[in-house]
Amino acid sequence: MNQPTKSAPVLTVDEARAAVIAAISATCETDSLPLSEALGRVTCNKIQAVVSIPPFRNSAMDGYAIRFADYQPDTALTVVGKSLAGHPFNGKIPASATVTITTGAQVPEDADTIVIVENTTITDNQVRINEPPVKHQHIRNIGDDIKHGATVVEANTRLTAAQLGLLAAQGMQSIEVFKQPRVGVFSTGDELCEAGQKRFEGAIYDSNRMSLCTMLRAAGYIADDLGIARDDQSEMQSLLTDNQGKYDFLLSSGGVSVGEADYVKSALEENGALQFWKVAMKPGKPMVTGKLKSGTYYFGLPGNPVSSMVTCAQFVIPALQTFEGSAFRPTPVLKAICDTQLCKDAGRFEFQRGIYRTDGKGGLQVTTTGLQDSHVLHSMGQANCFICLDAQSTGASAGDVVNIMLFDTLAGLTI
Ligand code: AMP
Ligand code: MG
Repeated sequence: MNQPTKSAPVLTVDEARAAVIAAISATCETDSLPLSEALGRVTCNKIQAVVSIPPFRNSAMDGYAIRFADYQPDTALTVVGKSLAGHPFNGKIPASATVTITTGAQVPEDADTIVIVENTTITDNQVRINEPPVKHQHIRNIGDDIKHGATVVEANTRLTAAQLGLLAAQGMQSIEVFKQPRVGVFSTGDELCEAGQKRFEGAIYDSNRMSLCTMLRAAGYIADDLGIARDDQSEMQSLLTDNQGKYDFLLSSGGVSVGEADYVKSALEENGALQFWKVAMKPGKPMVTGKLKSGTYYFGLPGNPVSSMVTCAQFVIPALQTFEGSAFRPTPVLKAICDTQLCKDAGRFEFQRGIYRTDGKGGLQVTTTGLQDSHVLHSMGQANCFICLDAQSTGASAGDVVNIMLFDTLAGLTI
């Protein structure tokens, strides 16, 4: 039996995450991508505007472009032309004249006010203005949105649809982003059986590779399925040796507790350095992190299916985000009224599985999914949030306010 690392400190969830993040060096490798492929990727550089937006004065409404000084109550202006979106009016507007203008069209140089069409009456090319205009009304000025030289997107930003739109408005076609981490995922355990194979006695089908690879892909990363390693020291060793050069991260599940066949810690120590392995959380207390000699980061997650998903969401994905150059942003914690009793012993922080709903009045309510043991993957399938119970908490009663973390706000658990 392997010796457990008895001296390892027990860390809180926040301490463990901070330690995980601190140990990761952001990648320097970059990709140049068309904007259309850059959603969710992290920018390498600050992007400054090369064009002011709008680039020219344009109309916010359909109507008439006038010189404010030409307005006289009860006097009509003569329509001498039109400025349409994409087809500017290039002439001069004579005194007491106007041009028709549409939304987005360039405002003629000597006009300073737009009168909306609804406030006018037109007869024989003569426009009568029915409401006194306000000087400069309905004109969008150069740079109202973004001024030349202003920051469009900061460096180390995970690009959203709106930001890609802003970059497109600058005429950009491609952008430099940090390379995505490549993750190799494998399971450990003699009891594990591949889908499609006949289940031998005492076997279970492997579910962790499916849920972990899918979480990583849902979070936007490249995850390769490396199969199952048997509970065998040399098999574990060769898996690490064969794959460490190929991946930025290796992720395993199982084999990290103090059980009979826990080879992960010793294999990691042989091939690199162990960082720590005890986090005061439930599910997911035993967890190994470290770095292999090749520089590949290693996460040995607990084998129980819920534990592996929770630790992936809480530690692995923040680590991948850090590697990719974007700072970890703490997940928002919301308050909800608990419908049911929640059982918990004081000691460890718990991520219980819950189902939240809105109460129709702007508040949230949450109910437990039931049995909270770490092998009950069904609870993750039913849940849409974690109910977060502090270490010292001894549970909650119906009507209590509890903290919840929506799956919608956790990369990997949201779709
Ligand atoms: P371990 O961490 O290896 O001691 O495993 C803890 C529990 O998780 C055991 O009940 C294992 O059978 C189960 N387990 C480990 N790996 C997997 C997996 N890949 N899929 C489903 N269950 C697993
Ligand atoms: Mg095992």
